[in-house]
Amino acid sequence: MKTISVIVPCFNEQETINIYYDAMTKLKEQTNKFKLEYWFIDDGSKDRTYSILKDLQKAHSDEVHFISFSRNFGKESALYAGLNEVTGDYIAVMDVDLQDPPEMLPEMFDLLEDGEYDCVGTARMDREGENKIISFFSDGFYKVINKMSQTKIIPGARDYRLMTRQMVEAIKSMTEYNRFSKGIFSWVGFKTKYLPYKNRERSAGSTSWNFWKLFKYAITGIVDFSEGPLMFATWMGTFFSIVSVIGIIAVFIRKLIYPLSSVGGWASMVSIILFIGGIQLLSIGILGEYIGKIFLEVKKRPIYIVKDKK
Ligand code: UDP
Ligand code: MG
Repeated sequence: MKTISVIVPCFNEQETINIYYDAMTKLKEQTNKFKLEYWFIDDGSKDRTYSILKDLQKAHSDEVHFISFSRNFGKESALYAGLNEVTGDYIAVMDVDLQDPPEMLPEMFDLLEDGEYDCVGTARMDREGENKIISFFSDGFYKVINKMSQTKIIPGARDYRLMTRQMVEAIKSMTEYNRFSKGIFSWVGFKTKYLPYKNRERSAGSTSWNFWKLFKYAITGIVDFSEGPLMFATWMGTFFSIVSVIGIIAVFIRKLIYPLSSVGGWASMVSIILFIGGIQLLSIGILGEYIGKIFLEVKKRPIYIVKDKK
């Protein structure tokens, strides 16, 4: 029987871990198709997540493992830590809050068994129950990144997926510090099938993402997988250089024809200066974003620090 390794990032999830484990055990016993190996990653939780994981590991030491980080490193670091540990034939990435339906796992498993695909991913068909402002910006994000980057991301794609070991080895070879998994999964290639599903609410607890965290995550995604924003200054510079040359010629000709006329309009002048100033600052900001990422990357700090592992 084949083994599926599941990587489960947990940040302040004391209420959900046991619900998740029970749901998975029930599924495994019902389908009886695969064995499971769990890698729970305690991402520096402040609640009882760590002790719950320790108890779970003690009670089911044949299949449950966990890693506990020294502090909160983020979901991306947790996924990477999991990928470095798994030993199963296929590897799944799942949230612990049951928003990634375990019932889909057998179908995903069958699709990989057929041999046609290297990865089976999931994408939400709708965003029911999600904050409207966040949905609006998420939709915008997928449009922007798919326009700017060669790496395409299916709108609504989740991290929830089942992959072959070969694909996992490819992902492990991407050791970058600024990690954006949705981009990484797509960048490594391999044939992926996406299964659509209906969005559902958390089993318990609350989401740890807020608007600014998501916004920063979106910027990481764009900066990691596209040089598009860097072209902004080039295009703007080219455009305004052309406009200014036309302006200079127009002023010069006007002076030749009407030597004594004075040119008025300080209001328009101030507006133009502010506008150009704004574009310059924005361009510097974009450069800063990339330099900041380079700064983090060259320091080569570890992506996570392990406090305990079993
Ligand atoms: N998570 C994590 N580290 C963090 C934030 C979240 O490991 O810093 C985990 C969390 O425990 C959950 C998954 O990532 O298993 C998804 O988080 P959440 O449910 O809060 O996000 P949402 O489903 O609302 O996008
Ligand atoms: Mg969730």
